[in-house]
Amino acid sequence: MKITALAGGVGGARFLRGLLAAAPDANVTVIGNVGDDITLHGLRVCPDLDTVMYTLGGGIHEGQGWGRAGETFSVADELAEYGVGPDWFTLGDRDIATHLVRTQMLDAGYPLSAVTEALCARWKPGVRLLPATDDRAETHVVLRDEEGKRQAVHFQEYWVRMHAPDAESIVFVGAEKAQPAPGVLEAVAEADVVLFPPSNPVVSIGAVLAVPGIREALAATAAPVVGLSPIIGSAPVRGMADKVLAAVGVAETSAAAVAEYYGPNLLDGWLIDESDAKQAERIEAAGISCRAVPLLMRDVDATAAMAQAALDLAAESRS
Ligand code: GDP
Ligand code: CA
Repeated sequence: MKITALAGGVGGARFLRGLLAAAPDANVTVIGNVGDDITLHGLRVCPDLDTVMYTLGGGIHEGQGWGRAGETFSVADELAEYGVGPDWFTLGDRDIATHLVRTQMLDAGYPLSAVTEALCARWKPGVRLLPATDDRAETHVVLRDEEGKRQAVHFQEYWVRMHAPDAESIVFVGAEKAQPAPGVLEAVAEADVVLFPPSNPVVSIGAVLAVPGIREALAATAAPVVGLSPIIGSAPVRGMADKVLAAVGVAETSAAAVAEYYGPNLLDGWLIDESDAKQAERIEAAGISCRAVPLLMRDVDATAAMAQAALDLAAESRS
C-alpha cells in the first residue's frame, strides 16, 4: 500500500511513528512543511523536516518532541559570550552538524529535496521524506502593535520569541511562486491513501497547501484523503493552532471547524476525538465522513491505533 502523508513537526512526526507501527509494510511518502525554515548564523534550519527525520530515525529528544537527544549547547554559550543573537532561538551542537551539512550542500547547488535525501541516508526514517517545495516559501505572521502599526515577523519569531500573541493574518512569503518539489505531485496522484496527521492546519498543513499545485493534486487524486483533528475540545492539544486559525478567519476552535476549513473538496474523512463525538453529525453534514476515536498520542500503541482508524476510514471512503 502506498500512503502519502502531509506533515508539520512534532504532531506530524509522532503520528508518523504510529503509522509505521500500524502499517509496517506500507510504502510511506511524507510531504514536509518548509514554512518554518529560517536562516540563523548563516545556517539553513528546517525545523519540521528535522523533527520528522530525528523522530523516525531515533535521534529525537523524546520529552521535548523536537531537537536532538543528548544535546549540548557549547556553540550557543560561546555565541552568547560574544553577545551575538538571536538569543531566542537556541541551536544545539548536534543539531548544528545537520544544519552545517545542509547549508554546505545548498550552497553547492543541491536542491533541498536532494539535501533532505542525503541527510536521511544517515537517519533512515523508514519513509521517503520530501520537502513540499525546493523553493523558499517562509511563513510570516502579521501583527498589530499597541499603536495599531502593522508588523510582519517570521513564524519562528512569532512562536519562539513572542509566544504566539493574537495575529492579524498569515502570509506564506514566496509560496505563490514556489513549485512542488520533485515527486510531490506524483506521491499524491499515485497514493492509495492520503493522510493529514493532526498537524497545525494553518502553519503546517496550510503552508504545504499554499504551494501551488498541491491542493489541486489532493482534490484530484483518486485516493481517499483522511485527516485527524489536532483540536480536542476547544483547544489544540499543544501549540497555538487557535491563534493562527483565528488569523485565517476561523473564529471557532473545534474539530468540526477545522474539518470545515479544509472542506469536502480536500477531505473525504475526518477523525475527531471520542470526547467530541457530538460534532460528528455536523461534519458529516458538510460532506465529510467522520468517526470519533481516542486521539491522544499518549504512546506509540495509542498512536498506531489512531493511524489504523484513519486507514479504516479511508478504506470505507473508497468502497
Ligand atoms: P509543529 O510543527 O511542531 O507545531 O507540529 P505539527 O504542526 O505537526 O503539530 C502540531 C499540532 O499537533 C498541534 O496543533 C497540536 O494540537 C497537535 N497535537 C499534538 N499532540 C497531539 C495529540 O496527542 N493528539 C492530537 N489529536 N493532536 C495533537
Ligand atoms: Ca512547525
